[in-house]
Amino acid sequence: MTTFKELGLNSQILQALTDLGYENPTEIQLKAIPQVLSSKQDLKAFAQTGTGKTAAFSLPILEQIDANSGDTQAIILSPTRELAMQIANNITDFSKHIKGVKTLAVYGGASIEDQVRKLNKGVQIIVGTPGRTVDLINRRQLKLQNLKWLILDEADEMLNMGFKDELDKILAVTPKEKQTLLFSATFPREVESIAKNYLKNPIEISAGEKNKGTDQVSHQYYVVSERNRYAALKRIADVNPDIYSIIFCRTRRETQEVADKLIGDGYNADALHGDLSQAQRDSVMEKFRNKALQILVATDVAARGLDVTDLTHVINHKLPDQIESYTHRSGRTGRAGKEGISIAIVTSREKGKLHPIERLIGKKFISTPIPTGKEICQNQLLKLIDKVQDIKVNETEISDFLPSIYEKLKDLDREELIKKFVSIEFNTFLTYYQNAPDLNDSEHMRGVDRNSDRGNRRRDDENMTRFFINIGKKDKLNPARLIGLINDQRIAKNIEIGQIEILDTFSFFELDKNYEKETMSAFEGNDVDFEGRNVNVEITTKQRTGQARSGGDRGSRKRTGDRDRGNDRKRSGDGDRKPKTDFGGFGRKRSGAPGTMSKSTFGSDQNPKRRKRI
Ligand code: AMP
Repeated sequence: MTTFKELGLNSQILQALTDLGYENPTEIQLKAIPQVLSSKQDLKAFAQTGTGKTAAFSLPILEQIDANSGDTQAIILSPTRELAMQIANNITDFSKHIKGVKTLAVYGGASIEDQVRKLNKGVQIIVGTPGRTVDLINRRQLKLQNLKWLILDEADEMLNMGFKDELDKILAVTPKEKQTLLFSATFPREVESIAKNYLKNPIEISAGEKNKGTDQVSHQYYVVSERNRYAALKRIADVNPDIYSIIFCRTRRETQEVADKLIGDGYNADALHGDLSQAQRDSVMEKFRNKALQILVATDVAARGLDVTDLTHVINHKLPDQIESYTHRSGRTGRAGKEGISIAIVTSREKGKLHPIERLIGKKFISTPIPTGKEICQNQLLKLIDKVQDIKVNETEISDFLPSIYEKLKDLDREELIKKFVSIEFNTFLTYYQNAPDLNDSEHMRGVDRNSDRGNRRRDDENMTRFFINIGKKDKLNPARLIGLINDQRIAKNIEIGQIEILDTFSFFELDKNYEKETMSAFEGNDVDFEGRNVNVEITTKQRTGQARSGGDRGSRKRTGDRDRGNDRKRSGDGDRKPKTDFGGFGRKRSGAPGTMSKSTFGSDQNPKRRKRI
């Protein structure tokens, strides 16, 4: 394993890296550092977000910078204020043992006079947003005639944000002999053309495949009707009590609205977008970085490049208009070797947008059922128990009160006591999610069934093979999960799934007869495991329970790849699911529903009282 020392960095830089806990160079650092140290050739680097890009370009520059000269020798252009500040902070950390090196971030929304004053003292490395950089050049405060390095970071985003003119202006005042380094996580056509114009005969390096997301991220999608989008979001937060997440929205307005709703519902959330003042943005970011804030609702631009290493989830409240943005969003999680989940909440109409993204990231989205009330309660309860286990008791302070407490509770046995204490906090969730409906999109399911009948030969039972599977309700199997399990075997595309019967310890499902052999060999060959049980599938001649409809149970038909709809038709042996008529038409008031459900849509429901959890 090559070390930073072997890459040719000096002892001051090595010391700073040790201070930061960087042990070995990342892939992009291994490739970029020796290249920039040994050659003046321009560089075009494909690097995913979170892979150590900042050190990759700044360490070789720090190695070569002339600390005795106050000239600006390097400028890093970055699309957002936050990213500019972050990069400047990183460089300050990397250079803390090198005497005389100064780094300054210049960005809009902060006092330009202040920045000018600092500039006048002589700053070798500038990190700037394009707009403020041009402003300072126009005021003749920023002089780039002795520039040696120009770095374009997140070039695609700068172009997306319409900074092409600013980039042209900045380029025009820099010397020809400089070295230009272009770093980008994605490489759409516009970036290729900017590279053509601004880079001379560049050497190309790449860490990971172009446009691919990081391997540490799994991609999931949930299908909901539009009105349930927000409710689904809350369930995702509720089923993950330790969630630390960015929720991405497409516009500032959507961002603020979602954040306001979450805050109103008691979540530990806040908004980050361009309508906020710089001070507000700084304050939100600081809280989020310190984990005083659990959920950040943000626009793509505002969250661009943010270096928060341990996000558990990235949630796409709505998918971005430009598919490349998805890579940037999901790249906020799964950083620094950690695993992360990127979730897309889509309506059935938006589902088609997932395919081009899958092609771009080179990974499949896993369709995932929206958590049920029961799952949420279970996770919250476990979290509560963990808290009880971990809580430190202040023996001295509590001792005075204990005798009277013991006296009051003396008639309760251990079990009763536990139940009561746990219920103090848990009851809110329990009440709230009691009878909570299935939010998986039923309209979509019906649409799929209609479509599959249209133009296709309508199949009847004779065209289906019935399979026995050795798992059931006791293994937490439900129809959505079973369809998911079938999908995961990748038997063939779009196989029709017929009736599903979930019983206590085993179940049945029907699949297109033409794929009988493939189904058997897929399940056998994949050595499938479900909730810790080895899955066994057999062809069975057992007839359907309940009344088999002539012409087949059309309502229950699905195709593989459609596992997410949990709202499929009630089937015999599937008693834990809500009958379709309960929620079949979203928006209809549910008769006899408990208080929390009395509103016409679940999207507008109230949330259980919550505590700040981080
Ligand atoms: P970046 O892609 O520059 O935003 O870096 C992503 C994260 O990885 C940041 O938190 C860096 O501090 C961290 N990082 C970068 N390089 C290394 C390294 N060689 N070893 C450990 N952490 C690193």
